[in-house]
Amino acid sequence: MIKKKHYKKISRTIDRFQKQLGLTDWEITWAIGDEHSYVVRENCLASVHFNQKGRSATIAISPFSSIEHVEHSVVHEMIHLMLADLEALIPEDIDSEAQCHSAIRRIENIVLKGLK
Ligand SMILES: [Zn+2]
Repeated sequence: MIKKKHYKKISRTIDRFQKQLGLTDWEITWAIGDEHSYVVRENCLASVHFNQKGRSATIAISPFSSIEHVEHSVVHEMIHLMLADLEALIPEDIDSEAQCHSAIRRIENIVLKGLK
């Protein structure tokens, strides 16, 4: 469970990876999802909603995630932002979800391995 005492760490994690991944042209906020949120309804650990042209994004973290997993989730959602401009070029009738996630997983491993 994510508790209030974890909020500072989450903020620091978001700031750190925003800089590290070069997403400084984005305004990134975060929130713990409530019961009506996509992240809770879909039973995900995190999700990101963004306005690609407006350069604003909100990372939603499930209250049912754990602080140990937040770093991984933040990196995952931020790689979605890194790919947002590319994804915007893909026609809407093409389902690119699997290809995007296959790339995201590999980049994720490189980023998270670099931390160890
Ligand atoms: Zn994803």
